Amino acid sequence: MTNGIVVGSGPNGLAAAVALAREGVTVTVLEASDTIGGGTRTEELTVPGVLHDVCSAVHPLAVGSPFLQRLDLAQHGLEWCWPQVDLVHPIDGGSAGVLVRDVEATAAGLGEDGATWRRTFRRQSGRFDALTGDILRPVLHVPRHPVLLASFGLRALAPASWVVRRWRTDEARGLFGGMTAHAFRPLTSPTSASVGLALALSAHRYGWPVARGGSRAITDALAAELRAHGGTIETGRRVASLDEAQADVVLLDLSPTGVLDLAGDRLPRRIARSYRRYRYGPAAFKVDLAVDGGIPWTNEAARRAGTVHLGGTFEQIAHAEAEVVAGRMPERPFVLVGQQYLADPTRSAGDVHPIWAYAHVPNGYAGDATEAVLAQFERFAPGTRERIVGQSVRGPLGYAEYNPNFVGGDISTGANDPVQVLLRPRIALDPYRTGIPGVYICSAATPPGGGVHGMCGANAAASALRHLSR
Ligand SMILES: Cc1cc2nc3c(=O)[nH]c(=O)nc-3n(C[C@H](O)[C@H](O)[C@H](O)COP(=O)(O)OP(=O)(O)OC[C@H]3O[C@@H](n4cnc5c(N)ncnc54)[C@H](O)[C@@H]3O)c2cc1C
Repeated sequence: MTNGIVVGSGPNGLAAAVALAREGVTVTVLEASDTIGGGTRTEELTVPGVLHDVCSAVHPLAVGSPFLQRLDLAQHGLEWCWPQVDLVHPIDGGSAGVLVRDVEATAAGLGEDGATWRRTFRRQSGRFDALTGDILRPVLHVPRHPVLLASFGLRALAPASWVVRRWRTDEARGLFGGMTAHAFRPLTSPTSASVGLALALSAHRYGWPVARGGSRAITDALAAELRAHGGTIETGRRVASLDEAQADVVLLDLSPTGVLDLAGDRLPRRIARSYRRYRYGPAAFKVDLAVDGGIPWTNEAARRAGTVHLGGTFEQIAHAEAEVVAGRMPERPFVLVGQQYLADPTRSAGDVHPIWAYAHVPNGYAGDATEAVLAQFERFAPGTRERIVGQSVRGPLGYAEYNPNFVGGDISTGANDPVQVLLRPRIALDPYRTGIPGVYICSAATPPGGGVHGMCGANAAASALRHLSR
């Protein structure tokens, strides 16, 4: 009987394990932490009964994931909840760019920029599933939808600062700028439009939902699916060397740095060199708040929004992102806010609600960005401070300690620079192979990169299964 070991139980590790187990491989997952889930854990970080997502919160990529769609995770308790409004981008003075799933409704709220918003996103959001079939795979493959991929790719390869020229109002430009900032890249660099375009399309196709009970429900459901196929999970098992993982196939849900630590001299020199040169991006500084009565946003739509982006105009966000990439802490960092309780009230305790927020800060930043984050709240929601009844803070070093895959606090496990956004962790037809027979890397450091979609794991498992069938 063929056996397999997966090191790490993040969404990619568990997706890889499920993909192998469904093909009859006997799989064991070894997880260093006492709980499974990697970047999908949910805990009472502030006040008893108030549930906070420790890492990931908003899941258009999971709902749209071709691999996760193939599994019936609802039977294991996974339920998606949508807020009334998917994303709000406030501008000083009280106005905002407002995004909902319906392209027409979004366009209607964007005034003179509405027609261009519609032209940019309507057709491609209708073909989003065909597009993800191509963009969620390694870039070096024969596309299934070459015309669609080319028309997306032409824009996606451009700097965000070029693409944004099609809009005139601060609201539409800010809305697009906030989504592109998810890439942690200067908005003037090539390919910086790609993540923003993909996130906007995902919002118009699926909305930006959260998992009922917290993001942990996603990996809890994957773990249940794995066990249903005979797989097992051992927690509290930090693997220090590949010698501890003897099996027909071994999949590593680790950063390239983690693979170097484990595999040591067994990696071919050429591949070890690529892993050593792998670049990490800026970091997250997280501030979780328990807030009595919710955030008093000036903009009315923000009070109904699952996600709120705090950064102001496109130019202000571009400045903050450029500073962070250059290793300097900006005075007004870009801040992402999650109000998951609006879609999923089970996370609140009475009228005390969990607010999830993180700022973009330089990799390895050791300072305290709490005040800078709270100042961005006060800018768009004066009076926030008075409502805070609990607070929990975790900076880049805390994240690196919490999960070694977040090197220097880089929550994407790798910089999304023009090469690595397409080709990671090295330039190869099969980027999942480590060069050690039977050993694969399956984390967010592989295509299609960061986020909770399980596609890195599913693609790596497909590569391992091809090897086994030879
Ligand atoms: C603050 C924050 C906000 C985010 N927001 C979102 C969001 O809203 N939406 C979204 O889609 N994504 C979001 N992400 C990103 C997302 O969480 C990650 O991209 C995703 O979790 C990557 O999954 P993974 O399986 O590759 O690795 P991880 O989830 O990082 O899991 C790796 C696992 O491997 C284990 N491990 C590491 N080394 C060893 C070892 N030697 N032995 C055994 N086990 C080991 C770790 O403990 C961990 O459990 C966010 C992340 C953070 C931190």
